[in-house]
Amino acid sequence: MCLFCKIIDGEIPAYKVYEDNDFLAFLDISQATPGHTLVVPKKHFDSIFSIDEETASKMLIVVSKVANLLKDKLGVSAVNILNNSGALAGQTVNHIHIHIIPRYENDNIHLAPDAHDFDAEALASTLSKILN
Ligand code: 5GP
Ligand code: ZN
Repeated sequence: MCLFCKIIDGEIPAYKVYEDNDFLAFLDISQATPGHTLVVPKKHFDSIFSIDEETASKMLIVVSKVANLLKDKLGVSAVNILNNSGALAGQTVNHIHIHIIPRYENDNIHLAPDAHDFDAEALASTLSKILN
């Protein structure tokens, strides 16, 4: 059983912030900022590539509920919502999870990618691969 399935089953303890029939949200053991929370479906899916459509759509509703809970209870005015799918993207636990990272003044979190020059040819080439 995977780590997050063990947390869902209660075999490993977690700081639970939200639970319903299909989802659990708990504090990330390594808090990027205070309130950093993971939302996980109780049914195991490895990543965004294998989750079913019903769970995927419900998950965003839960993410929005938990984001608002953190906003109301922690007084945060901004969050980043992040999913790492695949090892190259930094996924370390292969049970899909959405990070909700509350943002604070001077919190030293840098998530924005570097800016690149606009390259019409590269965009057209990529788009044609995606669409063909
Ligand atoms: P990933 O890198 O896969 O996107 O995120 C996995 C997250 O799970 C990491 O941020 C890591 O800190 C968190 N994590 C790993 N083990 C545990 C654990 O046992 N309990 C909790 N609450 N979080 C964990
Ligand atoms: Zn699992």
